[in-house]
Amino acid sequence: MSITENYQQILSSIPAHVQLVAVSKTHPVEAIQEIYNQGQRVFGENKVQELVAKYPELPKDIKWHLIGHLQSNKVKYIAEFIDTIESVDSEKLLLEISRQAEKHQRTIKVLLQVKIAEEDSKTGLEISEAKELFLQYLQGQFPNIEITGLMGLATFTDDMEQVEREFLFLKRLYDSLSIQKPLTTLSMGMSGDYQLAIASGSNSVRIGSSIFGQREYPQS
Ligand SMILES: *Cc1c(COP(=O)(O)O)cnc(C)c1O
Repeated sequence: MSITENYQQILSSIPAHVQLVAVSKTHPVEAIQEIYNQGQRVFGENKVQELVAKYPELPKDIKWHLIGHLQSNKVKYIAEFIDTIESVDSEKLLLEISRQAEKHQRTIKVLLQVKIAEEDSKTGLEISEAKELFLQYLQGQFPNIEITGLMGLATFTDDMEQVEREFLFLKRLYDSLSIQKPLTTLSMGMSGDYQLAIASGSNSVRIGSSIFGQREYPQS
């Protein structure tokens, strides 16, 4: 199947209230342009260097999401144009994003990435840290950011009951923080588990290989 056919099939399998973030990491700008032409506007990349290389080559109404681990010293390269940083996992990073956003007189949307995987050593905030940072945010400590929601990565396993537990865990945190300030985005689910994520309350899925095909990494 072509990228366009894959894309249309994924779109038709996602309810209207769920946002699709097309994860284009490792794929060329031509592939991104192909589904842009189909109407897709939200794209996800996981590396600053790759995003900064692709950005000038593509239409300016794309909403770019950074979904991979971000070092504070690299925020400055994307602060002018990034729509949402989904992978915020420290206070230091929040402070730097707010500082760089202020330089460009804008507000950058962020998601707090919470560690939900029971087994994998995936990065993310502990639940207590996420609550603490959200409180600091509500008190006005990060004036040029808007925390719009949470992001989580489930354990890479065939045990779908475990994956579901992890998703529901994040959904509960999302609902409890939403009482303090309404949130809009619960980002959970990738190519292998997005249906389960949506059934567990996700309203934003990050899908790469099911649209663009397998990623090819250069031999190192
Ligand atoms: C690569 C990546 C995805 C997309 O994964 P697929 O399995 O290709 O859909 C989603 N989220 C994050 C954080 C990623 O790094």
